Amino acid sequence: MIPPSPVRLETEPWQHDIARAITDPAELLRILGLDQRDLPPLRATGHGFGLRVPRYFVGLMRPGDPRDPLLAQVLPLALEDEVVPGYSVDPVGDLSALRQPGILHKYRGRALMLATGACAVHCRYCFRRHFPYAEQSGHRHWRGALETLADMPEVDELILSGGDPLSLSDPRLAELLAAAERIPALRRVRIHTRLPVVLPGRVTPRLAEMLAASRLRPVVVVHANHPNEVTNQLGNALKRLADGGAALLNQAVLLKSVNDSADTLVSLSESLFDIGVLPYYLHALDPVAGATHFDVTREDAKRLLAALRTRLPGYLVPRLVHEVPGQPYKLPV
Ligand code: SF4
Repeated sequence: MIPPSPVRLETEPWQHDIARAITDPAELLRILGLDQRDLPPLRATGHGFGLRVPRYFVGLMRPGDPRDPLLAQVLPLALEDEVVPGYSVDPVGDLSALRQPGILHKYRGRALMLATGACAVHCRYCFRRHFPYAEQSGHRHWRGALETLADMPEVDELILSGGDPLSLSDPRLAELLAAAERIPALRRVRIHTRLPVVLPGRVTPRLAEMLAASRLRPVVVVHANHPNEVTNQLGNALKRLADGGAALLNQAVLLKSVNDSADTLVSLSESLFDIGVLPYYLHALDPVAGATHFDVTREDAKRLLAALRTRLPGYLVPRLVHEVPGQPYKLPV
């Protein structure tokens, strides 16, 4: 399925930006003009899943504001290491849905490929923050994953996930896409990614051309949680994909002290639509260990949704859902 010859990997400009991402909390606070005493205690380094944030995204944070909603999404706090009943390392049953390394199958007609374990940013609320990527994802599993997929003729949509699939280089993505195109049953390729939001330069003309030329209809689901993340740079990047025929959707996570207000969510939906993106999902937080401080109660979530319905046209109201392991689709909250 995957040709045996190695793909030549060039270094692309956005990869330099990823390499220059900030990984030291002290440096991040220095850039933002913040003092540790303004913040809750930080998580000690060396426990894995440390700070990682591209400088572009830091540039969207408000200097001097310890409650900045973008900062809250990336700053590792000591309370992440507290053990809280009901929060687990596999909150949505990913491990039991593995068909083989690299392929998750939960829902009829769709299969999800863990194309890579790498991300440009480490989101503190990530439901896969404890996922064993080293064993279950990455290029060495592609061949087996695609062969499994080829034996699933009922699947017509391939979801590329990870990690962030756009952290793969364009040549690697081209390799993957070409192999997927050879599976007759596939009609669509859906890419779930936060990379354009944290580094719009990732949307290279080559990436846009690749998706436009594919026989698989591309759907790109970006992941923006707050209107401050929706910039002209993001809009220009996504326009390249839309011009090539990609459908553009957004998936947000409802996060306490980040976007749990009607004003913020209304602004997020309107800003996204201004750049051609439809709000698709507003996810309740998956109960992942380390993210308890982001949880919003179901009652508050429902109140927010009701407020959105009174303030937005229906097509700008995202679906408020949560994932329950073993269920055949994401359930409404
Ligand atoms: S980019 Fe996505 S997969 Fe990566 S840490 Fe953030 S939420 Fe998790």
